[in-house]
Parts: sequence; structure tokens; C-alpha cells
Amino acid sequence: MKDKYGREIDYLRISITDRCNLRCIYCMEEEGNTFFQEEDKLTKEEILKIVSASAKLGVKKIRLTGGEPLVRKDIVELMEGINDIKGIEGIYLTTNGILLEEKVEALKKAGLKGVNISLDSLKEEMFQSLTRLGILKKVLSAIDKCLELGIKVKLNTVMIKDKNDNEILDFVNLTRSKNIDVRFIELMPIGVGSKFKGISNEDILSLIKSNYGDLEEIRRDKDGGPASYIRLKNGKGKIGFISAISNCFCEDCNRIRLTSEGFLKQCLHFNYGIDLKKILRNGASEEEILNVIKNNIYNKPEKHLFMKKSEDKELKFMNQIGG
Ligand code: SAM
Ligand code: SF4
Repeated sequence: MKDKYGREIDYLRISITDRCNLRCIYCMEEEGNTFFQEEDKLTKEEILKIVSASAKLGVKKIRLTGGEPLVRKDIVELMEGINDIKGIEGIYLTTNGILLEEKVEALKKAGLKGVNISLDSLKEEMFQSLTRLGILKKVLSAIDKCLELGIKVKLNTVMIKDKNDNEILDFVNLTRSKNIDVRFIELMPIGVGSKFKGISNEDILSLIKSNYGDLEEIRRDKDGGPASYIRLKNGKGKIGFISAISNCFCEDCNRIRLTSEGFLKQCLHFNYGIDLKKILRNGASEEEILNVIKNNIYNKPEKHLFMKKSEDKELKFMNQIGG
């Protein structure tokens, strides 16, 4: 369905847990993070009811995220359930990749179409320092396993000033030999992310242009995603830019978000939305749920205001919202 600005909303991102096996420095604190209680999280059945109602309103694409979605024990069954819902054309996953190698075959059978793997460094020491708990080898073998199984892989990379920003060209070079898209995501001032300085995608693009003469411009992702793309001459994969800060893509935004505690959010930036869990647990019928979601989609805000002070700015951390 369309929102009041005429945007077709057909994409639902679902955070299935706020827990994570890593503690990336720009996403979570090292210690003292608070997590939702188990009973406050949506159950598999509740998530399926919401997906089913959303599909009737035109949602076709689902992405499972978190926290780290692969730490949720029933993810395979959940994916199977979503895959059986009429109208759902693709299920995707955003993951840190640590548990992916061992789960990806079962996930593929359950309907997984593609993965976005978050990877901010190709150097063991820096990877460890950025994620606090990560083991790079596990992520690299998960990437190879996905490619072996024919699952589309996109890497999400956040560059932080004076940390990993000397690795930009190493990531670019990955696209030369492997069929992987590398997407640079600008650091957003959300939660603990406000403590760090990111690198703008304009600066990353200038660096790439000054190092490589022949670049093919591809612009917009065919699936309507927010990235614009280029490609190295003869490169197998693409290089993407998701520039929420320097070049907001709100006019093409096609998504809504569901947090693991059942809050339906219209936009990453704002703290408002609808408590669908409360409505579900009060015994609402599917039609009532459908109407609430419809109203929420229709009233999606025109754009985010990340760089302005606003009272309704989201204060939660990314692991709680679902990045
Ligand atoms: N744990 C999974 C992962 O890391 O892919 C899924 C959830 S994580 C919150 C999703 C994405 O959000 C990751 O790619 C991460 O880099 C990104 N992210 C977290 N905090 C961010 C911030 N402040 N600005 C930009 N991206 C952020
Ligand atoms: Fe966990 Fe993903 Fe946040 Fe890193 S970015 S701490 S992997 S939720």
C-alpha cells in the first residue's frame, strides 16, 4: 500500500531479538546493556500474525535482523512460517555472520534468499577491537559458504574515523574477485553511535575515484534499496553507498520496522510507533491488526531529521531497534 506521500511500502524489517553475541563499539556498550525480558518479546506465532496482516497490505519482502538474529533459537521455524505466508516473495537476513556458517543450509531450505553480513574490518586485530568479541575467521568462512550455496551476499561496512578508515580500498578490492557487493553505510548518531565520528560516503567515493580510473556507475539498486552503486572495471561485485546522513533517501523509503518487543516503527529516527504486542495480547482480530498497521503505514513521516535536534528522536540503541 501507499503512504500519504505516495511511497509504496512493501518491505518489513523485523528485529527478532535485541540480544547479540558481539558488542560493536558504535552499537552497544561493552557492559551494562539492558535487554528486553523473554516474555516481552514477540513469539514466533505473534510475528507470523503481523507478517500475515502486513502481506495483505502489500508487504512482499521481509528482513530478519536484531540484535543478532541468529542467536534466536527458533529462527529456522520462524523463517519457514514466513515463507509459507501468501504474498511474501523474499526473506533476507542481516547478521554479523558469526553463527552463519553452521546455520545457513537450514536457513536456505527455510526460504532464505540473501544475506547482508556486517563486517567492518578485514584485519583480525581491528575486527576484534571494533566488535569486542568477534572472530574474523568465522565471518570469512560464512561468506564463502554462502557463495558456495548460491546465496547472494552483501557486506555492510561502517567506517569510523581513525579506526578502520584505512581499510576502505581493501573492501573495494574484495569486489574485484568475489561476487560480493560491499556497501558503505554512514555512521548514524543513534544511541552509542553518537560517540564516534564516521566517514561520509562522499569522502569514500572521492578516495575510490582517485585510486581507480575506470568505474562503472550503476546508481540505484534494482530491488529498490537505498544504495547507489558503482563497479570496478571487470569487478565481479558492486560497491554501494548508503548515505542516510549526507544524502537522505527518504523520498524512496519503502520500509517499516518491527522491534523484537512488538513496536511497529515508521522511521528509524523517531521514537514513535504502535505497540502491536499490546494490541495482539489484548486479543485483537486479524482485521483490527491489519487496520492498525494500515494506519501506521499511511502516516509514515516524510523524512528523518538525524542532524536536527528533535524531541521525538529515537534514543534506543541500534541492537534494540533493529538496524
Ligand atoms: N547484528 C546484526 C548485524 O550486525 O548485522 C544485525 C543488527 S545490526 C544493529 C544491523 C546493522 O546496523 C549493522 O550493519 C551495523 O553495522 C549497523 N549499525 C549499528 N549501529 C549503527 C550506527 N550507529 N550507524 C550506522 N549503522 C549502525
Ligand atoms: Fe551486535 Fe550487530 Fe550491534 Fe554489532 S552491530 S553489536 S553485531 S547488533
